[in-house]
Amino acid sequence: MASRRDFLHHGLRLTALGLVAVPLVDAQAARSQTEAPGTDLEPPPDLFDAQVVDIDFWVKPRTLSVIRPQSGERANVLYWKDGEVIDSAYQELCHLLRDVNGKASIAIDPKLIETLWASQAFVARYGLERPLEILSGYRTPASNNRLIEQGVPAARQSLHMSGKAADVRIAGLTEEVLGGLVKSFRKGGVGFYYRSGPKGGWIHTDTGLNRTWKG
Ligand SMILES: [Zn+2]
Repeated sequence: MASRRDFLHHGLRLTALGLVAVPLVDAQAARSQTEAPGTDLEPPPDLFDAQVVDIDFWVKPRTLSVIRPQSGERANVLYWKDGEVIDSAYQELCHLLRDVNGKASIAIDPKLIETLWASQAFVARYGLERPLEILSGYRTPASNNRLIEQGVPAARQSLHMSGKAADVRIAGLTEEVLGGLVKSFRKGGVGFYYRSGPKGGWIHTDTGLNRTWKG
């Protein structure tokens, strides 16, 4: 695992190239954890650019570490190895990404799982090894309608209902940083849901058309 010094070093180098911005963690936490200068650099427009990852990144075994705050579940799932999805692990991830309220699951789009894994694996390269919090994965039409009735942001034709979307966050990353990263994978839609408060907001990611919005 990269040390914080390596992480900062690398981060600064990327910043110098104009590829990465600012602290991955919030400024206060960064200040308390390091005395290295340079964390106050002016942020370039893109925080991360996942297009810079090397091929090694994509061919190594993939373990997704998730938590479901709603149910209290957590798991580390090695789901992809030697170029193939491990079926039992894929089934486990489909279960973890189920509709917790509606008690129903669906085949989750493997491309969505890839985006979730890649986002987590990308920041882990910089020393931030945190589980991905799944706030919402699959939703039954009934669950989706209930959210709409409750005034929670949810689309009528939500891709959550076909296992192609998830609402996520990673502790320590702002919506801007995580959303910017997910967007840079160019694998579908990204919604930025900014919220104040200790937990902050979340990022909607789906495998539909490449598009971004603020919710
Ligand atoms: Zn969503």
